[in-house]
Amino acid sequence: MNRLGGIRRGGPKGLTGVLARIATSAAIALAAAGSFVAPASAAGELNLYSSRHYDTDERLYSEFEEKTGIKINRIEGNADELIQRIKSEGRNSPADVLLTVDAGRIWRAEQMGIFQPVSTEYLEARIPSHLRHPDGLWYGFSQRARIIFYDKDRVSPLQIQTYDDLADPALKGMVCTRSSSNVYMLSLMAAQIEHKGEQGAKDWAAGVYENRARDPQGGDTDQLRAIVSGECGVALANTYYFARALRSEVKGLGETEIAKIGWIFPNQSTTGAHVNISGAGVVATAPNKENAVKFLEYLASDSAQAYFSAGNDEYPAVPGVELSASVARLGLFRQDTMNLAKLGENQPLAQKLYDEVGYK
Ligand code: FE
Repeated sequence: MNRLGGIRRGGPKGLTGVLARIATSAAIALAAAGSFVAPASAAGELNLYSSRHYDTDERLYSEFEEKTGIKINRIEGNADELIQRIKSEGRNSPADVLLTVDAGRIWRAEQMGIFQPVSTEYLEARIPSHLRHPDGLWYGFSQRARIIFYDKDRVSPLQIQTYDDLADPALKGMVCTRSSSNVYMLSLMAAQIEHKGEQGAKDWAAGVYENRARDPQGGDTDQLRAIVSGECGVALANTYYFARALRSEVKGLGETEIAKIGWIFPNQSTTGAHVNISGAGVVATAPNKENAVKFLEYLASDSAQAYFSAGNDEYPAVPGVELSASVARLGLFRQDTMNLAKLGENQPLAQKLYDEVGYK
């Protein structure tokens, strides 16, 4: 029996072309049909579906295994495909925990009924309330802010203190963003809707789009590169993309290039900077629910917080946990404390408003 092959065939859609692997495949037994069956020693295991793949995660998982004796069986893949896979596997899904990024994406999983509510004193004491679902369907374990980066030669930091400033006609021809269909852009717009109401958010989006230096395109790193090339005076990106460039080699963003880029945590005297999370929830059909809850609690512990956040150059979710060196260079900031569940709830309206103003 080819275990890995069997697992790849597991769901109707499979994970062909996606990085999917089982860290300890021996722990999962497969039925001849190619679907999962719970192994006899299920009590000592945890089946983790994760869209993360960072070096520090190895330490994260091995520490949990050492501390608890619970073996982690990991399936890694693209977030949306993992969500689809759990859905396809239905009641027979071996998934205990789904770990992924962005509250907007987690909301999509939530909408499909993938999570079950979990609440423990420890989790509630450790994870700030705005970074977790009100009913405990998911918890944020690290956070990132979507902030303003700018060309120090062309733009004064005084011009870009708030998200509203991005819509100021003074920045005409200077602003770069990703496409409006990107989940980070949808989450940011969802926050605008929460703060300004529908019309205010729509006007804001129209103003930002009007100021575009080019049609929305590329990923966050591309926005940073376009500041270096001079195409964009101002751009939006998540903090970890810049922190990563500070820490390691990122093509086109060496030390000299990065020195051209300034950054602003917006709205520091009003709502705080827009934040989002990497988070996890316990799957509704989890065969190892108790272990899944233990794993979430472990992720909220000090040592796991440090590994987890450093893995993607993010800020820890738990206040007071030490920042990695690159994140420390970005610095502390005042964050928006709106509950992140709103980002999901407002997501369809966010896309509708972007579309109405023609935001590509
Ligand atoms: Fe990202």
